[in-house]
Amino acid sequence: MEKHQNYLKQTIALAIANVEKNGGEPFASIIVDENGIIVGTGKNDMLTKHDPTAHAEVQAIRDACENLETTTLEGCTMYTSCEPCPMCFGAIYWSRLKKVYYAADHALAAAEGFDDTFIFHDMNKPHEQRNIPFYAFDIEEKNIPFEKWKELT
Ligand SMILES: [Zn+2]
Repeated sequence: MEKHQNYLKQTIALAIANVEKNGGEPFASIIVDENGIIVGTGKNDMLTKHDPTAHAEVQAIRDACENLETTTLEGCTMYTSCEPCPMCFGAIYWSRLKKVYYAADHALAAAEGFDDTFIFHDMNKPHEQRNIPFYAFDIEEKNIPFEKWKELT
């Protein structure tokens, strides 16, 4: 219990520093390996890097994967200052993290002006009825990239 609290306190300190020193948004994440060693850290770099995908969790995954020279973080745990948004949720699954501990929940973030509820709602709507509609477009060449992949791997 105490170790989780310590990692979360470090994560929150990084989030505070991001606001105070970097002019960034109030989010940070830390990734810890099975031995308790911090292998990656991330802060929200959206404003500073002009990158809407540079959420703290994604940045921490990028940092850990680069440090460990891997694309999977199996066995690693993420500590994050706030409950991950749908994009980060996906990144967490793609990176195969073992588990996630978060401090502020979804509702607290929404109350503070960081509301991602609309994305969760949109994900459950039919593709064409989303705020940003997705259209499946049938095109003959659609399978070629997969065929090339199969040929070369
Ligand atoms: Zn996110």
